[in-house]
Order: sequence, then C-alpha cells, then structure tokens
Amino acid sequence: MDSISSRIAKVSPSLTLAVTAQAKAMIAKGEEVYALAGGEPEVDTPEFIKEAAIRALHDGRTKYTPAGGIPELREALAAKLLVDNKLQYAPGQICVTAGAKMACFNAILAVVEEGDEVIIPSPYWVSYPEMVRLAGGVPVIVETKESTGWKMTPEQFEEAMTPATKMVILNTPGNPTGAVYTEEELRAIGDVALGEDIVILSDEIYEKLVYGETRHVSIASLSEELHNLTITVNGFSKCYSMTGWRLGYTAAPKPLAEAIDKIQNHTVSNANTFSQYGALAALEGDQSFIENLRGEYDVRRQFVLSRLKAINNVRVVEPQGAFYFFVYTGQMGLKSMNLCDKLLSRYKVASVPGIAFGYDEGIRLSYCTTLDILHEGLTRFEQFCREH
Ligand code: PMP
Repeated sequence: MDSISSRIAKVSPSLTLAVTAQAKAMIAKGEEVYALAGGEPEVDTPEFIKEAAIRALHDGRTKYTPAGGIPELREALAAKLLVDNKLQYAPGQICVTAGAKMACFNAILAVVEEGDEVIIPSPYWVSYPEMVRLAGGVPVIVETKESTGWKMTPEQFEEAMTPATKMVILNTPGNPTGAVYTEEELRAIGDVALGEDIVILSDEIYEKLVYGETRHVSIASLSEELHNLTITVNGFSKCYSMTGWRLGYTAAPKPLAEAIDKIQNHTVSNANTFSQYGALAALEGDQSFIENLRGEYDVRRQFVLSRLKAINNVRVVEPQGAFYFFVYTGQMGLKSMNLCDKLLSRYKVASVPGIAFGYDEGIRLSYCTTLDILHEGLTRFEQFCREH
C-alpha cells in the first residue's frame, strides 16, 4: 500500500508475538501448553508497590507530570544509580518513560541520523534492529559465538566499524542468551568505542538477575570518558515484576539527556503518573522481593541446565543472568521457526525461534515459570530432540 511510509515498510512484525498468538489460540481451545516462551516473571508485583500506586490515585495524582518524570522519582533513581551502579547522574539527566523499550527507542532516536550504522551483537533482543530502522539508521549485526559465551569481542566490534558507525548496543545481562559481560570485557569494548567516539547504548534491564559469582557492571561507571559516551537504560519491568506498569528510564550525558527530554515532550509526554509513584515505592521499599526472585530463578536455572546438558543433539552455554537459555539446535537441521512450530503443535511446548533474535540455529527457552511446567516442558523437549 503506497500510503505506508518507507520507514515503517522496512520494519518486520514481531516474530515472538506470532508464536505467542499460536500458543494462546491452542490454550483457548482447551489444549494444555507448556509455555517456555515468556518474557516476564510469573509472580505478581509486590503488594507495597501496588498500594503506593493506589494511594497515588486516591490522592489525585492523575495529571501530567514533568516530561522526564516526577522529581522524587528522578532523585531516587539518581541515588540508586550511584549506590548500585557507581554512576553519577543529576536527576535532570534521567528521563523516566513508558518502559525500557521506549527508553531504548528515545536513546536511538536522539543519536541516529538517516543512514547511520548501529552495531548490534546477535543473538539480540528482538526490537533493537527495528528501532534502528524506525530511526532511519542501518543495523549492522555482529554474530557472536558460543565459544565466547555469546559475547561480542573487541576485535569483532572493531571489524564491524565503518566511518558511518554512530552507536553500539550492549545488553548485559542479555536477552536471549543470559550472557553477562565482565568488567574486563566491557573495558576492552569501551576502549574501541572511545577510539571512534561511538555512542554506547547500555541496556541493563536484567541487572539484578545475575547468578553465582557473576556481578553486573555498568560500562558507564568504568571511566569519565565512557560515562560521557554512554546512555544507560534500565527499568522496573523485570526485577520488580512490573511489566504492565510500563516504566523504564534513560540516564545520559547532559546534551543527550536534553535531546531525549525533547523527544519525550513531543511523544509520550510523560510516563503514567500513578505508575511513577509505584516505582518510587519500589525503590524506597524492602528489596527482599528481588533477592527472593533471584534465588528462585537460580534454582530453576540449574535445573534447566542439568536437563539440557543431558540431551545429546543440543548444546547450551550456561547463562549467567536474566531468565533465558539460548539453546543451540543446529544439529537437528531444522530452521528455528519450523522447529518451534513442530515443538508447539506436536509436543505442546511453546518456545521462541532464534531467528527472532537474528540467529536461526537456536531457540530461546525461558525459566520464568514454575518448576512443574519446566519439568514437563523439558521432558517433552527431550522427547522432541530424541525424535529429530
Ligand atoms: N530490553 C530488553 C533486553 C528486554 O528483554 C526487554 C523486555 N523484553 C526490554 C528492554 C523492554 O522492557 P520494558 O517492558 O520495560 O519495556
């Protein structure tokens, strides 16, 4: 249709939504589906956070807020970033928006011009390349390997760079691989970015979900130069189980923060007002919810790891963070979409095809579901693998 802009015509529909829709249709028909495709914690938002939002509604907090968010929340976020991430930002450098998704998009729109290249390591979170296209940019995909733990090396980064490179997107802990970059790895990548003044978008939405000895490091905390070149993205969706509240934020050097504020002013205006009061309570209240979630997910992670390792024709790298496994399925010789389709229709297990993340020889399995579902889902997956 001629009336669709070329910018939108270039954008792909979400493949993850296609699989979810198929699984939902099966459930609606009364079929039992073992859903290992989720992207959010299965538990509810903590009660004290909900109460704060309800209180805000009762207190008449039902109007616009400043574009970047209520001052109390931006101050609390500045304090959080300092304590948790060793990042020094003034509240005015923080822009609260409608989810980490919008935060990423604001960051990309603030930096990327028509034809600019953005380096994205694959497997990547499904929306990055499409956001870059929406901004008129060109995604440059760097395929990472199992042997480097699905992490981009500084050499790969350097090789992918051209005079048109404007930004690199890092996601640690990562979706869909669970990879977590170490401080050393971030320093090496940071050095490459600094050499060419390439803006770093650091998506840290899974920061609190790291396991064992693994520690999350914010690349912007590693030097003043990196701080000046990085837009840090984070949010409330995953760690506080607040996906439906739509709350995320950017923290950026002043000129970029001002640009992001302009975008926010003329697009979403502000993040939902009473959600912001809930988020403030989340930051100021008891943090034990996160520790409990992390402990529970670590148990599931180890369970899934042992089950996957026992399957002959798949391979898996132990994920250090988030709540996903990226399973290498190349030995079965099936395209990932075809594999997921068969797994769902014949074995009733919902998963996400690797092609959605730019890597066709794997699938993503989530463990943000109960151990019972994981147990049965993995038994069925094992049977599928044996028969293919
Ligand atoms: N970044 C990554 C890596 C994600 O996995 C997600 C959610 N799937 C988001 C950003 C978006 O989070 P939000 O729900 O806060 O928009």
